[in-house]
Amino acid sequence: LLLTFAICRLIVTVGLNIDPTDLLSLGGATASVAVGGVQLSVDQSDMESASMDFGMLTRAEPLAVLHPSSAEDVARLVKAAYTSAQVFTVSARGHGHSINGQAQTNNGVVIQMSGSGAGGRKRVGPRPGPPRVFQKERFVDVWGGELWIDVLKSTLEHGLAPKSWTDYLYLSVGGTLSNAGISGQAFNHGPQISNVHELDVVTGKGEILTCSEEENTELFHGVLGGLGQFGIITRARISLEQAPQRVRWIRVLYSNFSAFTGDQEYLISLHEQPDAQKFDYVEGFVIVDEGLINNWRSSFFSPRNPVKISSINGGNGGVLYCLEITKNYHESTADTIDQEVEALLKKLNFIQTSVFTTDLPYVDFLDRVHKAELKLRSKGLWDVPHPWLNLFVPKSRIADFDKGVFKGILGNKTSGPILIYPMNKNKWDQRSSVVTPDEDVFYLVALLRSALDTGEDIHSLEYLSNQNRQVLRFCDDTGIKVKHYLPHYTTQEEWMDHFGDKWGRFNQRKMEFDPRHIMATGQRIFKLSS
Ligand code: FAD
Repeated sequence: LLLTFAICRLIVTVGLNIDPTDLLSLGGATASVAVGGVQLSVDQSDMESASMDFGMLTRAEPLAVLHPSSAEDVARLVKAAYTSAQVFTVSARGHGHSINGQAQTNNGVVIQMSGSGAGGRKRVGPRPGPPRVFQKERFVDVWGGELWIDVLKSTLEHGLAPKSWTDYLYLSVGGTLSNAGISGQAFNHGPQISNVHELDVVTGKGEILTCSEEENTELFHGVLGGLGQFGIITRARISLEQAPQRVRWIRVLYSNFSAFTGDQEYLISLHEQPDAQKFDYVEGFVIVDEGLINNWRSSFFSPRNPVKISSINGGNGGVLYCLEITKNYHESTADTIDQEVEALLKKLNFIQTSVFTTDLPYVDFLDRVHKAELKLRSKGLWDVPHPWLNLFVPKSRIADFDKGVFKGILGNKTSGPILIYPMNKNKWDQRSSVVTPDEDVFYLVALLRSALDTGEDIHSLEYLSNQNRQVLRFCDDTGIKVKHYLPHYTTQEEWMDHFGDKWGRFNQRKMEFDPRHIMATGQRIFKLSS
């Protein structure tokens, strides 16, 4: 009955002439319907997973789900949506790791881009081709739904790897390129969107266009950081470098915030000196409570060497800051890595007794958060609501943010890691759609919180959401001009404010590439036009 209802809803809403013989496999394990020459699934498990995301904060059930085998499948469906008398929406979904329903839609079709790679869910039908590495040219062509973990595995077979990463690799290429894609390499290589040579995009009119710096440039820059508004990335050509073999991974602690940020800023300034020795990755995190130092991102410290804040901080509690840095190397240069790291550490002002070092294969370092995911999953702590708050904070106000938020609003319980690291704005292409603060250096501050049903108020979704609002109000009241990363707003006025002087161009690109506003409506920037 449910299935019939779903299909009827689809037929009525889509308003297409669907031949009854197109309704396939009814009553079987999968159910599908053909629209615009492609087979859509209304299978309950497909519908269920397309209705949810990592955030577990919003839910929207689509009319159907498409598992595309090619860019042509995507184009056929989008064309049907665009030309239909009764327009319907089309939302690409990568790995569904958004927080606020950005890949969801309840009046259209979700295109499930990620599929059967090592990291993906099982998919129906043939999958698009695997990554294709061009060794001499040092780039790789990948399907938009490919997960970064699978991109890494493919390129490593050729001794190569992408240059810029996210902390977690079970995210899709199209999903991170629609935001920016950042991690500790961004200070040097820029975000992932700065490391793309070319894209194939299915626009909101259903055309497949190749775009790059030289060809269809408005589309190219618009799509990068474009929150899925201008088209669906079906192929990305990603820049590669020779892959390191091993990583020296170091953490050092600070109790003084300005010493901590001073060192971070010094380390990221080294990118301007091409010949200088520098770390390959610079991140950091804030430790406001004892529990956190041995938390999911810090398994590093434990169980062999658990750390007590009080033992480091002179027993006075308070906030600690951890600088996290790495140096990549090849086994052939292993004999010099100690001296190189030593020379770099000598210039820093951390608490001298607080150096924690480990050494591991490059893949294990890049895939570090997945290990933590498996642990959390086993304890039932992964599939919980995630009221995350990710902000770009201008360098000139980061000390005020520390005083007001880390040492103020957060108290001594944070319900998850707090990342903090600076990036150089000149590594971000201003022609892309992404918005950053108006300063040469800005920080990512990520409050990665999980709401738990412990009965304790401080772990509740309401408490944490309220704290997020307090943080934003504090920034407003004190004039700290933050920009949201992975933004989420519900009115166009808020979006216009977010984009600032980029709004005009963003809006113009929307009119050109998605005139009926059918794409990625889960972002709630534009309303579907009739
Ligand atoms: P989805 O949630 O599926 O989609 C996100 C948006 O992109 C939607 O609007 C969707 O319509 C659109 N979209 C998806 N695929 C395409 C496509 N092919 N073409 C056009 N639009 C598309 N981000 C970082 O930058 N750095 C990190 O270190 C980082 N770590 C994370 C760790 C975890 C555990 C989680 C849950 C998220 C993390 N993120 C990080 C955020 C992540 O990059 C974004 O949420 C990203 O959108 C997730 O990719 P996805 O494939 O799951 O996208």
